[in-house]
Order: sequence, then structure tokens, then C-alpha cells
Amino acid sequence: MRGQRAESEHKDLKHWGAMSRFAQPMARLIDELKKLPGVGTKSAQRFAFHILRSSEEDAAALANAVLTLRAKLRLCSVCNNITDIDPCVYCSSATRNQRVICVVEEATNIAAVEKTRHYNGVYHVLHGSISPIHGMGPEQLRIDNLLKRVEDGQVDEVILATNPTVEGEATATYLSGQLRRAGLRVTRIATGIPAGGDIEYADEVTMLKAIEGRREL
Ligand SMILES: [Zn+2]
Repeated sequence: MRGQRAESEHKDLKHWGAMSRFAQPMARLIDELKKLPGVGTKSAQRFAFHILRSSEEDAAALANAVLTLRAKLRLCSVCNNITDIDPCVYCSSATRNQRVICVVEEATNIAAVEKTRHYNGVYHVLHGSISPIHGMGPEQLRIDNLLKRVEDGQVDEVILATNPTVEGEATATYLSGQLRRAGLRVTRIATGIPAGGDIEYADEVTMLKAIEGRREL
């Protein structure tokens, strides 16, 4: 069934690809889909054809979900997490330790730390990492409100959980310099995660060991 479907999709693509160009609404959707990470021309065309064949309800549900996402979600004013309430669930939680902050590159990394079920502090999302070749300097990251949280004196420890990549390490080094002040512990997660890896893909045991084995900077 799956194979048949793939084959008919393939025929569709060949048929449409043979035409000099797609009809304008199709070309427009393909162009938008190609902007998604990891989606090339071929995948974008497959998604667009799938949407074209799906029911009107399914297509509307997809479009509606995209619009709702943009309308309802924003960044937490405290930690920059993506949220529908401000402050977010972590920052407004009475049971989380608000004096320990785990710094991550992206909001999706929070899930990697949460799945260990052993971290009870809060977060700070940088929305990127320092990468001179991609034109990302510290000024492009959301660091100001992290420094403010620390300066307010409500923080005992900052755990730097940026990825073990060149960019993540550069970001951790930069932040440890910025955060150095009396009475504040600044730690870096251990390197149980393979160098060059992404904490998003670490399994919960590896991630837990990385947090438990964190070292003072
Ligand atoms: Zn928050």
C-alpha cells in the first residue's frame, strides 16, 4: 500500500516536473515549504502534492494550526522559552527551584533536560549560539535578561547546557566570563554527549549523567 502510494506520488512528480513550471498556487506552497529546515525541493513537492490530495478539512486544519501557533505563542519575558502564558510554566511554578537556571540554545532543548526527570530548576533560552561564520555574535543572543536575573541576586547556580559543538563551547566560555560574580556557581554539563552532537538527541541517561557530572567553570 505504502509502496503503491509512493509510486503514484513519484508518477505525479514526474508528470508535474515535466511541465515547465507548477501552477502558481502550487509553486507558492512549495517555495514556503522549502524554507523549513531539512526540506529540499523534492520533499517540498511531495508535501505540497500530499496537501493537494488531502481533504479540505485536513488542509484547513494544517493552515489553521500554523496561524494559531503564530498568534498564540510568544517568548516568556523571563526565560525566553516559547509559551502561551507569560511567565511560562517553569518560571511561574512554585515547585521548581527558581534559584538554579539551566541555559540552553533552543527552546526545544528544554525537552531533552526535562526527560531526565531529575532537574527541578528553571531555564534560560538563548535562541542560538555564538557562530562568527554565520554572523552570530553575543549581541544576537538573548543574554541581557539572563544577566539581569543573575544581577537581581535571586540565583545560586547557572548550568551552561549549550551543545558540545564549537559554537556551543564558544557560547559557554563567553557566558562564564560574563556571569562571573561572587557567590554564583557557574557550571558546564559534562561531555557524556558526543562532541559535535546536539543535546536534543541525547537519550535521558546520557543527559542525566551530563547534568550530574557538571563541573565548575
Ligand atoms: Zn519562562
